[in-house]
Amino acid sequence: MTVSLPLVFDAPRRGMPPRHLADLDAEGRRAAVEELGLPKFRADQIARQYYGRLQADPEQMTDLPAPVREKIGEALFPPLMSVVKHVACDGGETRKTLWRAGDGTLLESVLMRYPDRATLCISSQAGCGMACPFCATGQGGLNRNLSTAEIVDQVRAAAAAMRDGEVAGGPGRLSNIVFMGMGEPLANYKRVVAAVRRITSPSPDGFGISQRNVVVSTVGLAPAIRKLADEDLSVTLAVSLHTPDDELRDTLVPVNNRWAVAEVLDAARYYADKSGRRVSIEYALIRDINDQPWRADMLGQKLHKALGSRVHVNVIPLNPTPGSKWDASPKPVETEFVRRVNAQGVPCTVRDTRGQEIAAACGQLAAEG
Ligand code: SF4
Repeated sequence: MTVSLPLVFDAPRRGMPPRHLADLDAEGRRAAVEELGLPKFRADQIARQYYGRLQADPEQMTDLPAPVREKIGEALFPPLMSVVKHVACDGGETRKTLWRAGDGTLLESVLMRYPDRATLCISSQAGCGMACPFCATGQGGLNRNLSTAEIVDQVRAAAAAMRDGEVAGGPGRLSNIVFMGMGEPLANYKRVVAAVRRITSPSPDGFGISQRNVVVSTVGLAPAIRKLADEDLSVTLAVSLHTPDDELRDTLVPVNNRWAVAEVLDAARYYADKSGRRVSIEYALIRDINDQPWRADMLGQKLHKALGSRVHVNVIPLNPTPGSKWDASPKPVETEFVRRVNAQGVPCTVRDTRGQEIAAACGQLAAEG
């Protein structure tokens, strides 16, 4: 299948940014501070500024003497990314940010405020190498992995924006993180797991967001799912299945040629067993492609068999990308699909699709640059 979309990430592959405080765990940052000839206690003091006060500018860390601020600024706070633009919709309750990293790489995050929570959707890679044909990001290929700090700093910036009342509804707290922006998180495994630890550890090691409020998504890299299960985290795993049969999935999610549906579901069961968490199954419903009643039945049956009650299906009405032949399913087809999956004893709901009007399918804002 071919989709004609402009190549977004046509720049040459570039390198990672220099080391940043958020790349380091507690031991690493103490070692870095000692390398600078500073006493160890400064390490936690600096981390408290970053993770607790959400301060990324050493000049503003006024509890540090000026010479220390200068030293740590150079060594631990290289400029990471700058805002290219913010785009708001849903009455200001959704805000998408396009970032430019130091080497020009573009990435994006989306902050969504709901009555009971504020969720940030973050990117783990610039571009994506998984080549799903219905996805804008997939069309441009992988530019590069993001560093741990580039992932973590998306969270810091959003937490500060919530605290400072930059999102409609007044000051609030960032409560949920979903790794569902650009990229395949498990293809950048080590940095993503390190970022999850910074996001969920209590201050001074992280932002203290509950693991239960973090979702890591994947297209189904089965060995990496098993590895994640062995990390003993209690984050939610979301598997982008999009169809229950290998024949179609080989095309819709090309990585299926490597790890087929049965293998992916096996790994998902292992994750559910180890974490005690329900696995989310993501299903982008595409008109006349994967929305047939028989596929709904097959999906429900396969999931029930593999995961019993430890699964939930999120049906996502496809947000068509510009110039694409793919389209969302009509409402009655969607309703029937959901009914059939539920009839197999598998809970299935339609995901609220925030940000449609600001091109919020992953990668679209960067695509429009
Ligand atoms: S749908 Fe996700 S995994 Fe597939 S190409 Fe797009 S960003 Fe990558």
